[in-house]
Amino acid sequence: MKLDRTRLAALTAAEEQRFIDTHPRSGQVAASDQHLLGGVPMAWMTRWPGAFPIVVDRAAGAHFTDIDGHHYVDFCMGDTGAMAGHGLEAVADALSAQARAGITTMLPSPDASWVATELAARFGLPRWQMAMTATDANRFVLRFARHLTGRPKVLVFDWCYHGTVDEAFATLDDDGNVVARPGTIGAPVDLDSTTKVVEFNDLIALEAALAPGDVACVLAEPALTNIGIVLPDPGYHEALREICDRTGTLLVIDETHTFCAGPGGATAQWGLRPDFLVIGKAIGGGMPVAAYGMSAEMAERLHPSLFGTEVDTSGIGGTLTGNALALAAVKATLSTTLRQNEFDQMFPLAEAWTDGVQGVIDEFGLDWCVNRLGCRAEYWFCPPPRNGRDAAAAVDAEIDAFLHLYALNRGVLITPFHNMALISPAHVRSDVDRHTEVFRSAVSELAGTT
Ligand code: PMP
Repeated sequence: MKLDRTRLAALTAAEEQRFIDTHPRSGQVAASDQHLLGGVPMAWMTRWPGAFPIVVDRAAGAHFTDIDGHHYVDFCMGDTGAMAGHGLEAVADALSAQARAGITTMLPSPDASWVATELAARFGLPRWQMAMTATDANRFVLRFARHLTGRPKVLVFDWCYHGTVDEAFATLDDDGNVVARPGTIGAPVDLDSTTKVVEFNDLIALEAALAPGDVACVLAEPALTNIGIVLPDPGYHEALREICDRTGTLLVIDETHTFCAGPGGATAQWGLRPDFLVIGKAIGGGMPVAAYGMSAEMAERLHPSLFGTEVDTSGIGGTLTGNALALAAVKATLSTTLRQNEFDQMFPLAEAWTDGVQGVIDEFGLDWCVNRLGCRAEYWFCPPPRNGRDAAAAVDAEIDAFLHLYALNRGVLITPFHNMALISPAHVRSDVDRHTEVFRSAVSELAGTT
């Protein structure tokens, strides 16, 4: 199918108008606000499709309603924060009970040990610490890695995302230099002084970058999930571990999104052996909480610095970290859901979502792909990319804007900055079929066959 850009622009304009006409209350909220910067509590919320963000009234399970009374099936699920489902009873009960029993004392609550035991069983790393967000967990682990190795640099993959971690906003320019990612605001130092960047799936570049011995750790998602889904080549992870071992580089696996691969993430699913592992977003059933695990060797090597006579003042921590409310939320979530049973139910639905999208791609002869990792699937406007650079080259803001808005106007929410669907334990087959129907209809409008 050859894409007609004029037609695409006209279709998008029609969807923009439809959105404005059918969301008067959300529009009024946006127009009447005087004190929020940009009219939203977080600036990126203006980047959702539509002239203004829809204002959510209630979310339950895999659905939500906005203040204009529209119902939506949610495939974004708070970009993984609500992967367990919205408004979980067990979490609501635990939060309510713990809020009455004290939210934060800077002392451990009885749930702490349960949480660490559960995380150890799921991800296979023996020692755990808490954080408030995955961003924080990544930051803390980077500090530990520098401390343990005495090396200054971090290696990340081109077009990775690990939260608002300064070192990770590095990319490669056309000449292979490390530069700040486009759109980075207020970077503290030149990125090439903190970071090395290589393409995912490029073992030769990885080997060359680690050979000088100045990299403290590789910070890696097991599969890239923030520039579409880029899956590892067969044998890639074994080689990554081996090169890290040979060069004395620590390996940090960030499972924040790849938790979609199973109850212990890709680490358990694929038998990975990280030195540190970060998990955030989903484990608290929507509450802000994250955790990081470490191998017995890392724990032992850190021990003297953390529990010796000198108090660590390095910025690892946070007053509210490990608070009783967050721990109660993790216990309530992981003891009741996102276990193997739930994943067994989620995987076939994610497969059906993928098959639905692939069917449309085939029917219309599109040069697009759809990749899946466990209960997460995403389409992208090129054949399956092998690295971040190829994936980034296929970003198409115009098609993106149309497809997202078309879906939203018909009660289907997909993740912004992505074309991603996350299946939760609360999704059912009819939710998936609704997406396929809407996606097919959008593409056939683009093709001019409706
Ligand atoms: N790691 C990965 C892989 C992520 O995708 C994200 C956020 N999308 C983060 C870390 C940061 O999570 P948070 O914004 O909750 O700190």
